[in-house]
Amino acid sequence: MRAPTEPQVVMTSKFGLRTINGKEEFHPGVDLRAPIDAPIYAPEQMKILRHGKGEKFGERFIVAEGSLVYKFMHVGLVNGIKDGDVLAEGTVIAKSDCSGTDAAHLHFETWPKGSNGWTGKAEDPEEFFFKCLLGQEFFPYMEGDKQRWYLKAV
Ligand SMILES: [Zn+2]
Repeated sequence: MRAPTEPQVVMTSKFGLRTINGKEEFHPGVDLRAPIDAPIYAPEQMKILRHGKGEKFGERFIVAEGSLVYKFMHVGLVNGIKDGDVLAEGTVIAKSDCSGTDAAHLHFETWPKGSNGWTGKAEDPEEFFFKCLLGQEFFPYMEGDKQRWYLKAV
């Protein structure tokens, strides 16, 4: 198991309710720092279930199944990866891009597995993936006036 970004994993937005431009919205994943063209890695051996482009925001995404179902968004596909492929842990699955957003980052979701790919509701990747599977936790720090979190083994 490994994080989908490297070397230092920095979370720029948490899972859950957040306020953007005065509006409350539910954020179903976490945002991880990933400058444009930064490689995105398979966190474990996983099978690509689906990839494409969101209709609402035009964000490119990949859905893949390992011990959880992962959704990666705002990513440019790496040549040759297609639905049904089984990829080893650490394979570069995509490059970060700005599709569907105005700043490059990786939006990362974790879902329970279901009989038909995924099911239920998105779970907090901080607990569900980073803490339980990787044994690492996020610690807060300030970057200028922005709240950030860095990942560290505990
Ligand atoms: Zn996000």
